[in-house]
Amino acid sequence: MAAPLSLQAYVDGVRAGDRATLARAITLVESRRPDHQALAQTLLTHLLPFSGHAHRVGLSGVPGVGKSTFIEALGCQLTAQGSKVAVLAVDPSSSRSGGSILGDKTRMERLSVDPNAFIRPSPSGGRLGGVGRATRETMIVVEAAGYDVVLVETVGTGQSETLVADMVDFFLVLMLPGAGDELQGIKKGILELADMIAVNKADGPNRDKARLAVTQYRAALSIMTPAHPDWTPPVVSCAGLSGAGLPELWDMVREHRTRMEANGALAARRRAQQVDWMWAMVEDRLKDAVRAHPDVRALLPTLSQGVVSGTTTATLAATRILEAFGVTAEG
Ligand code: GDP
Repeated sequence: MAAPLSLQAYVDGVRAGDRATLARAITLVESRRPDHQALAQTLLTHLLPFSGHAHRVGLSGVPGVGKSTFIEALGCQLTAQGSKVAVLAVDPSSSRSGGSILGDKTRMERLSVDPNAFIRPSPSGGRLGGVGRATRETMIVVEAAGYDVVLVETVGTGQSETLVADMVDFFLVLMLPGAGDELQGIKKGILELADMIAVNKADGPNRDKARLAVTQYRAALSIMTPAHPDWTPPVVSCAGLSGAGLPELWDMVREHRTRMEANGALAARRRAQQVDWMWAMVEDRLKDAVRAHPDVRALLPTLSQGVVSGTTTATLAATRILEAFGVTAEG
């Protein structure tokens, strides 16, 4: 990465919505170098008062469900209505050379040249926790730059879905038409996270299958207790390719926000997310510190061997590790 700018240059550029500075600020936030991190945290502290106004929407679905086509169509719809749309991605598998999601900008040809849209591929490398930190902090930066809708795309795998659901106001799950088999395979976990299910590609010969899938997902959701009494996650159908159903879908996303703002649930959700996130960071860093501690490292081969061979219990080994780190068991 090029030498960082001055703090003031970052703040001014981001606040002015300058795209080049915005991109560099995000690169700074993503950097894991301690000196970059220190500057990034100061920058974020300056930007924080200007963040928080955007509508944060997570979007998930298996590869091929039509996420990028959908985001392209929805994004263009929103910018045409005067919104500024940022698209971020969480893809822990992505490498330096660009990952499977958003690495290739041609996936969103129109949106990527739209002056009111900003697309940022997933931060690369590192563990999921690190990718999540960078994405959350990037959200602060794009919000301070004036983006009022932030779409966070992720792949349909449990851990990254939970991570994204925990950083957004609304979590949308795209499904393929084709009921029965797919429905059998759907994890209960994803139904619990979803604020809405959209059966995508409901066009042409898929229409009947999509209708059936909608009925089945509605039935599956109806036996679950909604996460909030004021919102029963709707199941809709749409087609990202033609844009059919997207205006109605977005109306519902807005309706959710209106209701959750009115009853205080949105503010509560965001507060809880912040506190959960703080603890997740503590756990992450603590684990790194424990692993890196010289006394722990010295003990680890023997302890691991003991646990693997069944001569010591995992609990005892954990106690020994924590003692070596300086934490003694209570009681
Ligand atoms: P992603 O992997 O989830 O991002 O999926 P893509 O957006 O790349 O789409 C995967 C394939 O499905 C592409 O060939 C798209 O042209 C196609 N596709 C996307 N949306 C629709 C749709 O609404 N209807 C139909 N029939 N095909 C679609």
